[in-house]
Order: sequence, then structure tokens, then C-alpha cells
Amino acid sequence: CLDIARDEPDKRQDMLQKFQDFQKKADLYYVYHTVYRHVVEPFTSVLPEGLFNMSRYLLHNIEEEACYGISKSATLFALAKQSKNLGAFKLARTAYEKLRLLRIPQQFQDTVDLGSLTIRSKPFHDADELLPMCYRCSTTNPLLNKTGNRCVNCKQPFVHSFVNFEVLPLVEFVLEDGLTDEEAVHVLDMSIPKQKKKGPWTESKMGNFQTLRLGEEPPEEEDSFTARLKSNNDSDEFAPVVVNKSTLQAMSRSEVYILKWSKPLRYQFFKSLLPDVPITYCFTCNKLFHTDDFEQQYLQRGHCPFCRSRSDD
Ligand SMILES: [Zn+2]
Ligand SMILES: [Zn+2]
Repeated sequence: CLDIARDEPDKRQDMLQKFQDFQKKADLYYVYHTVYRHVVEPFTSVLPEGLFNMSRYLLHNIEEEACYGISKSATLFALAKQSKNLGAFKLARTAYEKLRLLRIPQQFQDTVDLGSLTIRSKPFHDADELLPMCYRCSTTNPLLNKTGNRCVNCKQPFVHSFVNFEVLPLVEFVLEDGLTDEEAVHVLDMSIPKQKKKGPWTESKMGNFQTLRLGEEPPEEEDSFTARLKSNNDSDEFAPVVVNKSTLQAMSRSEVYILKWSKPLRYQFFKSLLPDVPITYCFTCNKLFHTDDFEQQYLQRGHCPFCRSRSDD
């Protein structure tokens, strides 16, 4: 698709649409494979949290349009079970209620009936630590969200780690008109964050505590990326964070992850809001991961968990 889009401009829009569509389907089937395997053979090596996140990810995506071969009841079944295990009782209730309205295979019917009964003895709310937080506006989000995998407040899409599907502390940003991807990368590579001039370490002593902080700025000089994050909060429509050259110059290269899609797609830029959390991405499929998870999967399987490519470094 991308090749056609690059070489034949009149088909470009169409092919890009198709490409996005295929990408999304690939994501969904990848996730569904794990969820489904868990439903038919409950003893898998996937963490309960992982299954919990994956089934929510799937539901968010299949709510609006069904996807061929992906069973809503299997997804709900996995979700109900994991929510109950992890203490998301409100969500488990919702899942069981939805399951009772669907036709499901007899072998699962008993489990669902039993589950819907036992869940009544549990509290009515979800455990707080399971609720996802938006890294752009700091809103705590509900576990299921009608608008999909995005923040209920600022509509920023969540970025998931493609192993256990936690939300990564990344916020995608786009470049101001007139700034090309290559220029932006160049600016970032050359950038020297302003605070470096004062020495990157600030030392502060508070009683018995001695803290060393890297690159912390005085509050009056809020960096312009943070300022941009907070802008556009009042509109109903999603507005991506737009970044200009001087903001790029103030950013540190190590906090920015760039997915270099081949032409005619644009690069995708992500800023990490928790630079201490190591994040890895695959050069072939451009999926982002928690580094630990990626390395573990890579060691176990010898390839990227998503696209199965091997890198030689
Ligand atoms: Zn938000
Ligand atoms: Zn990959």
C-alpha cells in the first residue's frame, strides 16, 4: 500500500486509508490471538494485568465496528475474569451483564452464570490503582471509555506498550506547518536543553535528605512543551500538541521517540513525560514497548513480539 501511495499520487489518499486500516486490523488480531488463546486454554504465560489491558484495548476498538473473526463474547469473557481477579469489580459486573445478553457457547455459560452471581458479593467500585491516567492532562480515566482508547478529557490517544498493553508515559506531538520531519530530527539532534548551561544537576538539601535532580528548571520558566500540553484543554475536539522549532530546540533528544515511517507517511514524534521509564521501539513495525518487556520477549522468542523481525544489534 505504501509503495502505491508513494508512486501514484491520485491513489494516495485511498491507499493511506487502507494502510491505516490494515495496521489497525493487524494490531487487533495480534491482541485477540493472545486473549483468545487464554480463553480456550487458561494456562498461558501472559500476566493477568496484560490480559486485562488487552481485553479492554480490544473492546475499545470493536465497540464501534465489529472486526471479522474477533469474538466480543470471548473478549468480554476474558475481561470479566481478569477484572474480578484484579479488583476491578465494577468493570467485571458490566462485563458479565453484557455477556448475559450475548449468545455464548454452552461450556462457558455455566462459568458466566456463576461469575455473575459471585460478583454480586463484591464492592461496587474498581480498584483505584487500575485506573489509567492521562499523561497529557493528568485526568484519571475510567476503565472503559465510550470514545475508545483515548483520554475522556483531552481526547489524547493513549500509547500502549505492545507486550502487556500498559499505557506508556508518552504524548504524541506534531510539527508546526512548514517544518519537515528531517529538519525536526536535525534540530532535535543538535538541541541542547537550556538548563544544561547552568549545569544539569541541582542539589538541594532538606533536613536529612539530599536530592540530586537532573535538569529541573525553576518554576517561573516553565518549558514550552509543558505549556503546550496544557493549551487547548477547553475545546471538545481533539487537538494534537503542535510544536515549533524553538520548542524542539529546548527538548532533550533522549526524551523524544521518533517513529520513522517511510514516505509518504510522516514521522511520528512522541515526548516522554517520565524520562526514567525506559522505552524501546522496533525499527521494523514501529511499535513501542516497555524496554524490560521487550527484552524479555526478545530473549524468549528471538524476535520482536509483534512483527517477528530480528535486529542484528
Ligand atoms: Zn487527557
Ligand atoms: Zn517489530
